Order: sequence, then structure tokens, then C-alpha cells
Amino acid sequence: MRIIRANEILELTRRLILDAEFNIGVDIRAALEAALRRETTAPARLALEQILENQRIASEERTPMCQDTGMIIVFAELGQDVHIESDAAGGFEDAVQAGARAAFRGGYLRASVVDDPLFDRTNTRDNSPAVIHTRVVDGDRLRLVVIPKGFGSENMSAVRMFPPSAGRDGVADFIVDTVRRAGSKPCPPTIVGVGVGGTFEQCAMIAKMETARRVGSVNPDMRYAKLEEECLERINALGIGPAGYGGATTSLAVHIGHAPTHIAGMPTAVNIACHASRHAEGSI
Ligand code: SF4
Repeated sequence: MRIIRANEILELTRRLILDAEFNIGVDIRAALEAALRRETTAPARLALEQILENQRIASEERTPMCQDTGMIIVFAELGQDVHIESDAAGGFEDAVQAGARAAFRGGYLRASVVDDPLFDRTNTRDNSPAVIHTRVVDGDRLRLVVIPKGFGSENMSAVRMFPPSAGRDGVADFIVDTVRRAGSKPCPPTIVGVGVGGTFEQCAMIAKMETARRVGSVNPDMRYAKLEEECLERINALGIGPAGYGGATTSLAVHIGHAPTHIAGMPTAVNIACHASRHAEGSI
């Protein structure tokens, strides 16, 4: 049994959020640089140059790369041999929430969360609460993946409860059509996360996690790898381009995860991440 103090969890959460807000992943930066080498029109090139310059300044000056600092999503994998010792930070979820609040206050990040979604819509003023998904796994470590998610892209996401007869082509058309309908709203070039299978809520969680997969990684299942490639090609043929200015790079990647599902269904979710696709992970 390994003891992890709640305060360590607070500190890890805080550090990961700030890291994600200030520093774009090297994989995404490399993909944007490759897109800049490919694009030939002035507006597309200008948009990519500005995105890259903005990311450089954010990293050097430790300032958020976008004014929408997002709603914080935390995927936690908690080893079953860990005992979390409550302290001044509280228990596990208290500590994650306190870490998220500390990041927003200390990092001067924009408070973007309202309490009641339908009636009051009062800003909570510290971006709380974070959305926490926890899985208990083997081992004696705690791993956190933190995703600050802007809603320009989140709002363009979609779920469809397909019958199995929709097949591969139905899923491919849905992915491409979701990106087409989104147009410039999710701040392209985007990363398109897809979840196929599971249930209504599970496919959405898979799609979200797929937005954080390394750009340039190859899906281990070659059938899905081929589908990813085909969808990316079709998406980039739409011509929406960087920032919607037209061009060959609407998305940097399509990532498809999958899960077993019911014989009568094929739930499919598409979650779009913008060019400021922020995520960071760490373990204790
Ligand atoms: S979609 Fe992304 S880049 Fe666009 S405003 Fe939102 S967080 Fe910023």
C-alpha cells in the first residue's frame, strides 16, 4: 500500500493545468509546422504562422495560448494499491478541484464556468468545478491526464446512435460531415477524436480521450488506421483550412478509439479539439 497525500494531488493538478495552458505539445507543433510547409496560399500560411507565433509567445512568457482557457477535464487512473491520505486539501476529488482553482487563480486564467447551466448562469469565478473521470487500475500510482477544453470546439461535437447497418461508411460520413458543418467555428486546424461503440456516454469519453492521443501515432488496429487516414483525407479536401481561411489543412489528425457494444447498436461520438489542443499528463 502506497500513501499519496491529497496535497500532492492538488499540486500535480495545478502544475499540469498550467503546463497545458502555456505549452502546446511538440507533436501538435510539428504537425502545424508541417502544415505550414504544405500550404501555398497566403491566408492559410498567415494563419498558421500566427498560430505558431502565438504558441511560442505563450510558452516563453508563460501566458495562456488562448483567451478561452477552457473547462478542465481530468481523467484519473488510480492504482488500487494507493491509499489517499486526506489533509488540508481534503480527499481525492477535493484535491483535484483545489488544484484546478489554484491554477486558475495563480495563473490568471479566465474564469469560464457557470454554475446553473440553464437559469442563473452565474460565473463561479474560479473556473470550478473541473469534470473528473476516475478509473481504478492495477498498481500503486496515480496518473492524471488534464484537458482544458475550449468550447468553440466542444460545441461542434456530436453523438449519433447508429444502427449496426450504418457500417464503416456511415461512420466515415458522420465524421466528415461533423467537421464540414463545424466550418471555422472550432478554430482549425483541428484534431478530431472519435469513439465508436460502447454506450451513449462511453463513446463520448473515448472520443474525448482520442483528442489527446499523440498526433503522428498510428492506430494499432490497421482497419481503424486506414479509416483514420481516409477520413483525414476527405476532411482536408473540404478546403475549410487554417482558421477557416481556406487551404489544405482543416485537421491535423483523426483519431478513432473503439469499444465493445450491444448487438443492436453502434454509438459514435465525434469530439473536436482546436489548434490549441491542450493536454498534459503526469503521475505520482
Ligand atoms: S476553440 Fe480553441 S482556439 Fe478557438 S477560442 Fe476556443 S480554445 Fe481558443
